[in-house]
Amino acid sequence: MSVTVPLTIALSKGRIFEQTLPLLAAAQIHPLDDPETSRKLILDTNQPEIKLVIIRASDVPTYVQYGAADLGVAGKDVLLEQDGEGLYEPLDLGIARCRMMVAGKPGMSLQRTGRLKVATKYVRSAERYFAAQGQQVEIIKLYGSMELAPLVGLADVIVDLVESGNTLKANGLVPLEQIQDISSRLIVNKAAWKMKHTRVMALIAALRTAIES
Ligand code: ATP
Ligand code: MG
Repeated sequence: MSVTVPLTIALSKGRIFEQTLPLLAAAQIHPLDDPETSRKLILDTNQPEIKLVIIRASDVPTYVQYGAADLGVAGKDVLLEQDGEGLYEPLDLGIARCRMMVAGKPGMSLQRTGRLKVATKYVRSAERYFAAQGQQVEIIKLYGSMELAPLVGLADVIVDLVESGNTLKANGLVPLEQIQDISSRLIVNKAAWKMKHTRVMALIAALRTAIES
């Protein structure tokens, strides 16, 4: 009797799950539960050997790195904050698109002589960006609601993801500089890439076809 080892895909709830769903459907993968209504963290699919695990967006690379999931979908913003060890990033899925930006009060000048105070969840990206600009900064790590920081004098500027700009606008802030475009990527554990090569390649091919159409 041959037993197929499961192939596990890590996803986060919300926009990544919603936008990955049509791509998985094009690869003939249909989850049997909806993570928005079910409390299950492991979802079966119509394919008995393919499982989905539902975790925090920022935990997806960790699960894949350690091989607890074979594949995952993670925002480039999240990937830039990690070392990427043990991972391949074979495909830009083109979903959950936004921009990583420096934002602050209108007319705020970034070219100042003193140290700029930068509040962000994206510490590594912010450090890298300002270092490349030759700008001395003090990074203040936050976990959310970054828009508040310049309003209450915690920071001069923030580094955050911007889609429409409405959240910034509602708080009297404006985008000042673009750091980079962000989209979600397919990531693959390096061991799974070797050991489950045929299935991983078939999935990548199906997803690529879905993206290109
Ligand atoms: P966590 O709750 O673990 O901190 P999160 O709030 O980043 O995660 P989501 O809001 O679901 O989780 O975001 C998941 C991914 O979607 C992000 O990593 C980013 O790549 C992308 N994303 C985040 N905000 C936006 C946005 N406003 N527009 C488009 N894509 C976004
Ligand atoms: Mg969010």
